[in-house]
Formats: sequence, C-alpha cells, structure tokens
Amino acid sequence: MGHETPFFVCYDFPSHHESEHRMTARILDGNKIRDQIFAELKDEVRLLTAAGVRPGLAAVLVGENPASQLYVKSKIAACEEIGLSSALLTPPATVSTLELLAVVEDLNRANDVDGILVQLPLPPQVDTKHILEAVDPAKDVDGFHPVNLGRLVSGRPGLVACTPAGCMEILRRNEIKIEGANAVVLGRSDIVGKPMALLLMHANATVTICHSKTRDLPDVLRRADIIVAAMGKAGYVEADWIKPGAAVIDVGTNRVTDPKEAERFFLNFPDRLEKFRAKGSALVGDVHPDAVSTAGALTPVPGGVGPMTIAMLMSNTVKAARLRRASPKFSATQSTASAR
Ligand code: NAP
Repeated sequence: MGHETPFFVCYDFPSHHESEHRMTARILDGNKIRDQIFAELKDEVRLLTAAGVRPGLAAVLVGENPASQLYVKSKIAACEEIGLSSALLTPPATVSTLELLAVVEDLNRANDVDGILVQLPLPPQVDTKHILEAVDPAKDVDGFHPVNLGRLVSGRPGLVACTPAGCMEILRRNEIKIEGANAVVLGRSDIVGKPMALLLMHANATVTICHSKTRDLPDVLRRADIIVAAMGKAGYVEADWIKPGAAVIDVGTNRVTDPKEAERFFLNFPDRLEKFRAKGSALVGDVHPDAVSTAGALTPVPGGVGPMTIAMLMSNTVKAARLRRASPKFSATQSTASAR
C-alpha cells in the first residue's frame, strides 16, 4: 500500500474541519474503560464485603519467568485497587503435575477463594491442560475450562475468557453497533479467537473466522464492519484492507526490535519512531498503525485491549463470588461488567 500522503494521528475525536481532509479513527481508549469498570467493581465489592463476602483471587505463579511475574504483579495490584483479597502461591519451576494438581485442589476447597488464576506458560514437565481442567469451573476466572467454554457455546451464563470479554466491553461502551454487523475475527485460538467469535455471534453479528489457511484475507476483511485481530503478527493487517469507517479491535501485542520493521510501521508517526530509537523496542498490534487513517474506530496498542483483560479478570472474580457465595438479593446491586 502507498504511504505517500503523510497524516497526523489525532488521539481524540476529529473535528469537522479535520474530517473534511482525511479520516482519523476514533481511538477506543482501553485505559479509560478499565478505570470505569474498576470504579463500578469497587462499589460492588464494598457492598459484598459489608455483607461478609469479600471476593478473593488466588494466583498460582510457577517458577521465575520475568514476564509472568510482571503479569501476576499487575493482577495482584488490581485486586488491591478494587478491594479484593488476593493470595499468591509460588511453586518452584521443578513442580510436577501431581504437586500442582494438589495446589489447585486446595484452592478449589478454600471457601474464601473465588477465583483461581494459573499463570501460563507452565514448565514443560507439567500437563497444562490437566491443570486447567482441574480448576473448579465456578472459580475459573480465566474462562479457560471446557465447562465454561461449553456454556458460552450454548449461550448460558458462565465465566467468559477475559480478553474477548474485554473486547466486547470496548465495543459496547463505545456504542459500536454489533447487531447485524459483518464481524471478522482474525485468529481461532481457544483463548481469544473462538470465544470472541461466539460472543459476537450471540450479540447478533454475522461472524467470519479467519486463520492461517484463509484465502484472500484482504478481500474478507474489506467486507467487515468490525474486525477483531488476534493473530500475533506485528502490523500484518494493512490500512487498505480495512473498510473505511470500520471498527477495529487490535488484540495483538508484538514487541518489535528490528529498526527496519519499526521504520515501516512508524513512517507516519515520527514520535513513535523516536521513542523506538531511544528504547530499542516498541509494542505493535496485529494491525498496521496506518489503519488510523481508514478505520472509523480503533484500539491503540498499547492502551487498548491490554488493560481490559485485567479489568475483566477482576470482573469475573467479583461475578464468581456473587454467584457462588452471595445471596440472590445481590443481583440487584451488581455492576454492569460483572453482570454480563
Ligand atoms: P495464537 O494461539 O498463536 O493464535 C493465533 C491465531 O492467528 C491462529 O488461529 C492462527 O491460525 C492465526 N494466524 C496466524 N497467522 C495468520 C495469518 N497469516 N493469517 C490469518 N490468521 C493467522 O495466539 P492468541 O493466544 O490467540 O493471541 C493472539 C495475539 O493476541 C498475540 O499477539 C497475543 O500476544 C495477543 N494477546 C493479547 C492479549 C491482551 O491482553 N492484549 C491477551 C491474549 C493474547 P491457525 O489456527 O491456522 O494457526
């Protein structure tokens, strides 16, 4: 695609004057929605706690993977922020499947633990599927358990995987029309693509799921009113594959370190290129940053889907506590996110 006409990124609604000259996507700010959801959850947690049900999350962090440590730290910090109790269990990297199963079973039995989070990846000697399936579905706040996936397929209430649930919150809270829309989900993983497609279908979109064997991807994408890109390929979706005005949710989080690649992505974003040069790396989504000139609405990377994943983890924990421990009268006080 051509990059001849430079444009400037507007991280706000374009004025009439600007939109006469070029289209600039509305930026769908995940940090802002995360803050809204946290504020709603804080109120709900306060009410539950006053009634003797303080929701609690237990995180299991195996070994010393620095990225996993960072993720778990931010999840524990989120618990503190909204008033959830939290526990961190840190089995060594040498843990066996049986030993880890015993940890999970203890957490299944603990009444004050509402959500169990097993941080992935687990070491190679551990049977990850076996561990995830051992988590009580009522405490499966990641929404990975086949029982919860089955509930999602059949449209029954359950705990839904956090990232796709977060994408739906972004669409809904920005009042992007889903019903009747042509939605294309790029990627078919169990944790993002598949649940995402199901959620969009239940919200009455007409859904197409694309994957590595899809023929003529640009052509499929050009018919989409909503695109959710979750493939793990930096900047793969070109701006001119996007129908003008489409809503684009970019789930990809790819660390770019190659200066040539960075120049290709940030040709029209001198500030980002400068930051890349200073730091030696940058995060890029699965959608080329130039998509801001064709999409009608776009999640930034970082600051779009990422913060929503943690928000929905918190929301799932509160929901799990309410469903498992609180009396039915609490359904009247539930927050918008945890009610879904
Ligand atoms: P994954 O398990 O690797 O799945 C990637 C999917 O993309 C697969 O279904 C694959 O198709 C498809 N794909 C790969 N290359 C393709 C191509 N050239 N054309 C069309 N489809 C293609 O990844 P994931 O776990 O779903 O994660 C996807 C991305 O989301 C990653 O960048 C990950 O870091 C990011 N992520 C972000 C968050 C967040 O909180 N922001 C959370 C989760 C994941 P096949 O099935 O045919 O192989």
